[in-house]
Amino acid sequence: MDFTLAPEIDELRLKVGAFIEREIMPLEADRANYDDYENIRLDRLEAMRVKAKAAGLWAPQMPRKRGGLGLPLVGWAAFYEEAGRSIFGPVCLNCQAPDDGNMSLLNKVLPSEEMKDFWLQPIIDGKVRSSFVMTEPHPGSGSDPAGMMLTRAERKGDRYVISGRKWFISGAAVASHFILVARTSEDPRRGLSAFLYHKDDANWRIVRRIANMGPDEHGGVCELEFDGLEIPVEHRLLEEGDGLRITQIRLGPARLTHCMRWLGLAKRCLEIAGAYVAERRAFGEPLGQRESVRMMLGDTAKEIEIGRLLTMHAAWLIDQGHRAQKEVSMAKIEVADILHRAADIAVQLTGAKGYSKDTALEWIYRYARCARLVDGASEVHKMVLARHYAKLGNEFWTWGA
Ligand SMILES: Cc1cc2nc3c(=O)[nH]c(=O)nc-3n(C[C@H](O)[C@H](O)[C@H](O)COP(=O)(O)OP(=O)(O)OC[C@H]3O[C@@H](n4cnc5c(N)ncnc54)[C@H](O)[C@@H]3O)c2cc1C
Repeated sequence: MDFTLAPEIDELRLKVGAFIEREIMPLEADRANYDDYENIRLDRLEAMRVKAKAAGLWAPQMPRKRGGLGLPLVGWAAFYEEAGRSIFGPVCLNCQAPDDGNMSLLNKVLPSEEMKDFWLQPIIDGKVRSSFVMTEPHPGSGSDPAGMMLTRAERKGDRYVISGRKWFISGAAVASHFILVARTSEDPRRGLSAFLYHKDDANWRIVRRIANMGPDEHGGVCELEFDGLEIPVEHRLLEEGDGLRITQIRLGPARLTHCMRWLGLAKRCLEIAGAYVAERRAFGEPLGQRESVRMMLGDTAKEIEIGRLLTMHAAWLIDQGHRAQKEVSMAKIEVADILHRAADIAVQLTGAKGYSKDTALEWIYRYARCARLVDGASEVHKMVLARHYAKLGNEFWTWGA
């Protein structure tokens, strides 16, 4: 068993880390670099994206022939973790949600190079943004899309006609390319289908950008209404009834890339807290000399390493052609918790400064709360793990792919 990164991936990892520290982290300190929703201002983003492309640090998940770095998932893990150390890092290097999951999906399932040229290439190039449109407000579907989805896609000749409502759609206010999941039949397993549509298509609208507790992606999280949007049959992804399959193809790697970025953020929490307690004194000595403080730092470092191992194992399995469903679920549950605890401990250790906007900690603390909800609530992943365990018994714990 060899846990060493390939030399070229390790070199890239160091390059990403240096770029993040030199070019992007300094932007976090000045509120003038933020937009109204606490993300990087678009003009600053464009300038950083030009630099990232010039440095060869762009779209690590995409094939080289389309302008990406063509890395295996193990390489994504190394790259994303470094990018994730800055709150602005992933979006500057085009490895942010939801575009990264959408790009990976489209690269896998679009049937022709012409379709990739139109729907995928502009996202890779950073010219347009994209959204994945699945979740619905009550009484529609959230955790249980197959059972509860209400948005319908009705086949009429060579088109599907869409009606219904969606919400919490990341990036929708700035996206041009949308991947929509809707119901095409009552079949419990094959009742959903997935489609592509463009922002300029008629008969759909953004009802509102939903105010929420976190710092927002560009384009926010939005509520959408569909009232007769027409989608040509050739813009359906895979076959009718493959909506759940599309969701699984997208969410496996997309959940894992969340973990990769969140581990970077958790490491950053420790970096900020560690630097503070090394310098800050109370009761005659630096805080970092106190055993209780050291235990908090040591425990958090250990937890981050657990998350890294789970994430890297799942990434490696996917590289071997495995679906790694239970490994992705374990990583998702664990890393979401770790990010939350790392942010909480770091705010505690940095005292009032941690509560202020003088460091990235309070941003990370609020953002971390969505980690246990997005792309499957932790409880749903635990339910899935229990199913795997019931089926596999002691075979749950095997080595290799
Ligand atoms: C910031 C953010 C961005 C998002 N971006 C997108 C996006 O781009 N596209 C998109 O389609 N969706 C998006 N979502 C929606 C997200 O995927 C859903 O929130 C998630 O799937 C859970 O669905 P729900 O919110 O409807 O929760 P519900 O299904 O209403 O569940 C509520 C709670 O019930 C509990 N629960 C649910 N099932 C079980 C169970 N089986 N056992 C025990 N407890 C259970 C969990 O604690 C869960 O949190 C986003 C959400 C957030 C917060």
